Amino acid sequence: MNEDHFGQKPTLKAISNAFHCDDTGSPFQSCIECKKELVESNEHYFIEKAIRRYPNSTETLTIFEFAICISCANQLNQSLSAESLSNITKFQMDKLRMRKIDSTSNRSEHPLSTCIFSGMDISQCEEYQIVGAFKGHDMIVSDFPFAISGSIIESMSEVLSPGTKDEFDDFVSKHFTGPPELQELWGKPKVILV
Ligand SMILES: [Zn+2]
Repeated sequence: MNEDHFGQKPTLKAISNAFHCDDTGSPFQSCIECKKELVESNEHYFIEKAIRRYPNSTETLTIFEFAICISCANQLNQSLSAESLSNITKFQMDKLRMRKIDSTSNRSEHPLSTCIFSGMDISQCEEYQIVGAFKGHDMIVSDFPFAISGSIIESMSEVLSPGTKDEFDDFVSKHFTGPPELQELWGKPKVILV
């Protein structure tokens, strides 16, 4: 995602609990990469979480979560191959076209309750990721926030170049070890969506 996402008449809302840091129970305070303070400095940033739902339960476990400032997110994007970026954009556009929506219209009042690309009910997904955009104390509501089902994440990872997959794996292994009970998930494809 790039800075243009902040160009569309955004609405500001309080940061929902879904985007609080699980570790602290409070809003994220700093960028995972450069450690820059995000809230008091009124910085633009993203938060991403990968979540697993326990079978037959409403309980969830966060696989990884982070806040990243917009300049580090841009840097991460620039490290991806042109091929992967164009494949992923095409993948997303095709999915949205199939759902006959564009990313800025017809957004549900509860954008985290369905997968933006498949329309699947997130409460039925064993794994999913959520992404939001923020400025200081506020959540920016435009084409963010959104949720993506685990099955879409897997199909998305199939269009990535080997180099981009390595970038994502490096990012995840650099910052997270992951809960030991979820060891088997760490071999799964990862897609960083910010
Ligand atoms: Zn940063």
